[in-house]
Amino acid sequence: QQDKPLDFIRQIIADDLKSGKHSKIITRFPPEPNGFLHIGHAKSICLNFGIKEENNGICNLRFDDTNPCKEDNIYVEAIKKDVKWLGFDWGERALFSSDYFPQLYEYAIELIKMGKAYVCELSADEIREYRGTLTEPGKESPWRDRPVKENLELFKRMKNGEFEEGSHVLRAKIDMASPNLNMRDPVIYRILEAEHHRTGNTWKIYPMYDYTHCLSDMLENITHSLCTLEFEDHRPLYDWTLDTLKTPCHPRQIEFARLNLTYTIMSKRKLMQLVEGRHVDGWDDPRMITLSGLRRRGYTPASIRNFAGTIGVGKRDSWIDMTVLENAIRDDLNPIAPRRMCVLDPVKVILDNYPEDLVEEVEGKNHPQNPEMGTRMLPFSRELYIERADFMEDPPRKFHRLGPGREVRLRYGYLIQYVSHEKDEKTGEITEIHCTYDPETKGGSAPDGRKVKGTIHWVSAKKGVNITVRLYDRLFKVENPEEDRNTHFIDQLNPDSMITMDRAVAEPEIAGLAPGTTIQFERQGYFCVDPTTSEHNRPILNRTVTLRDSWAK
Ligand code: ATP
Ligand code: MG
Ligand code: MG
Repeated sequence: QQDKPLDFIRQIIADDLKSGKHSKIITRFPPEPNGFLHIGHAKSICLNFGIKEENNGICNLRFDDTNPCKEDNIYVEAIKKDVKWLGFDWGERALFSSDYFPQLYEYAIELIKMGKAYVCELSADEIREYRGTLTEPGKESPWRDRPVKENLELFKRMKNGEFEEGSHVLRAKIDMASPNLNMRDPVIYRILEAEHHRTGNTWKIYPMYDYTHCLSDMLENITHSLCTLEFEDHRPLYDWTLDTLKTPCHPRQIEFARLNLTYTIMSKRKLMQLVEGRHVDGWDDPRMITLSGLRRRGYTPASIRNFAGTIGVGKRDSWIDMTVLENAIRDDLNPIAPRRMCVLDPVKVILDNYPEDLVEEVEGKNHPQNPEMGTRMLPFSRELYIERADFMEDPPRKFHRLGPGREVRLRYGYLIQYVSHEKDEKTGEITEIHCTYDPETKGGSAPDGRKVKGTIHWVSAKKGVNITVRLYDRLFKVENPEEDRNTHFIDQLNPDSMITMDRAVAEPEIAGLAPGTTIQFERQGYFCVDPTTSEHNRPILNRTVTLRDSWAK
């Protein structure tokens, strides 16, 4: 990591430490508890907590909970779990913007007293209309020049719940002709008749995001307030609020490019639509790019932190290919995942010359490249299952698997030679394949040195265990589900994003694996024992990712 050049944010921080501007770096991760965290949030978490770790600083977890209508304690708990799971530590306790409501109120009174805020009675529509556009200056509200005393009185009455929602707001008095629309007397408080998940019905008025955020940062002595690019235009308001109030500290807001990932959508609001429309099986559906979904899919914290390191932090919006995320989990699992065998779509093979009742054991390596991971014994019997796709009635020359006239190697087992096969007359489906085995080839090599190109996986029909395997694919069928304005993203869902294989048979050990365990099924990919649905006798395994990028050309 030392020789990698610093990204522009880490460079600013290094400079601020060197110049003595700061001696301790304090960052924060400020999610709104209105949904579950996704991989985009992970970028921000890894940045803020990463900077904390690298500089022996502090990173606060602050819930930005100023909109009681959409927030809930369920999300607070889910977010804490996800941040912890990624391996980060926010210190003694999580913080909440709502804890600052009393101070924020006092600061608003101060602004009013300074003549820098006023109570406005325009409706939301009128405020929008008066704001003007990028090419045309705004129009001043008729309430803009209310006397301070009247503003103080009305703001107090707003707080006391004397007015209806939408009838009054408090606005900062800045500049209706500013080229920046955010500076045209932005609303800083509104009335909401809603119960807040922490403050209950104590407050009838709630501060707006821009006003809350800079003051919360200031109250926590944040040194660098890192946010995504869409807040660049909000920075003047961030600075105006702190400058006007002459606060004792003034955090520096720095914007970076948000993560966009192909074949998915990245917004809590839209992910919520997938959940509520039951297009997926909850926030933690393994096809979701929520952290809880990725966890259930079998992604590790290390893979996500490595992914964040790979994509880096920049100033220009860009798209990251889903393959980059998939490679991150492959790289993490490849050296550590024990190899196992499982037949997803079984067809029976009968070894005509193998003793009827014999069950032998053959030795399989747990990891071909890492002998330290040891071996396991695999039961071998007269009747076996192989993958339906590993047999062809009329195979082309390059098909190095089983077919008439072919000999093939059973991984860690014997060489077997095709004899005959049977089909269901109605469906044409192959029902069983007869072969003979060569007793001289235990372990897979022939004493006479004859060459057998194909090696296939198998499971003993007698000793194998029935499992359910879910094969996941990308949730959307197009790179950018939101690109086409005429098509809703819901209509871009990939209908084959989950394929359930409920006749799969695996080597016996799979039955005893704890939920969350990750293994590689040879030739099939990395799989994770589903933590939430494996309670019954029959384990369910989720495919985390295929072995290589099957999408690459
Ligand atoms: P969403 O639209 O998905 O709800 P948000 O920005 O409204 O995202 P917050 O809970 O406010 O969600 O986000 C907390 C932090 O995570 C913010 O600092 C935000 O900038 C950052 N963040 C959110 N999405 C991304 C992303 N795609 N890439 C990088 N950072 C992100
Ligand atoms: Mg937000
Ligand atoms: Mg949002």
